[in-house]
Amino acid sequence: KSAVTVTNLHYTYPNTTTEALAGVSLTIQEQDFVAIVGQTGSGKSTLVSLIDGLIQPDSGQLNIAGMTIDATAKASQLSKIHHHVGFVFQFPEQQLFAETVAEDIAFGPHNLGWSEEKIQVAIDRALMMVGLPLELKSRSPFALSGGQMRRVAIAGVLAMKPSILILDEPTAGLDTQATNELLTLIKKLNDNGTTIIMVTHQMEQVASYANRVIAMNKGTIIADTTPQQLFSHP
Ligand code: ADP
Ligand code: ADP
Repeated sequence: KSAVTVTNLHYTYPNTTTEALAGVSLTIQEQDFVAIVGQTGSGKSTLVSLIDGLIQPDSGQLNIAGMTIDATAKASQLSKIHHHVGFVFQFPEQQLFAETVAEDIAFGPHNLGWSEEKIQVAIDRALMMVGLPLELKSRSPFALSGGQMRRVAIAGVLAMKPSILILDEPTAGLDTQATNELLTLIKKLNDNGTTIIMVTHQMEQVASYANRVIAMNKGTIIADTTPQQLFSHP
């Protein structure tokens, strides 16, 4: 089953002249773990921002969770995407803000209008998913290690139970051990049914975790293949 379909998407940022996305079409299946690769400025962030409804296409369309988003979609329609898609920004720990870990994780579910009871259950579940002990709930997020802070930030996204998870360079700045732990966690989420879309620069991550690699250049997709194909040398 397809999770996301984009059809001939075009996007140009305000006050710029070059298209950041110059006609992208793509179908992502529910069980996919997609790695998006390409040089800086190739359009990776723009593509995932469109999939998350953070920006609206100039033309073309996005089909996600039974919704169709195009240039005429209303803002309220775009923000409904957040009920289905979780977005882990680059260095997500920089967006931690609350006095306790629990409050920080509660922020997203609270925005979605969930009951306090449902939120408390979601916090515990999310902490377990990222492999952090529940004792951390009452601690300050700022007293944790870098790897733990990042997990708390990711737990805040997972608490909203997204069926599609987008991660922008999720392991940037982490040491080898924290990187491997985080990728193993992401792979487990994928095995349990979450669609993963991960922007990355690290080819070893592509090879070991993704089932599909999309390479971008100048706002277009120049390859859409398996890691095996990409790394095989004839
Ligand atoms: P990547 O994620 O692959 O580095 P981006 O999607 O960020 O690429 O960028 C695609 C193009 O859009 C680049 O030419 C970039 O300079 C431009 N761009 C990205 N963000 C903005 C912005 N906020 N305002 C104007 N131009 C932007
Ligand atoms: P508004 O209606 O004011 O635009 P939203 O309901 O869209 O606000 O929620 C914005 C906040 O929700 C963000 O600050 C972010 O923390 C959180 N959020 C939840 N899901 C997402 C998502 N998929 N992408 C971006 N932000 C999200």
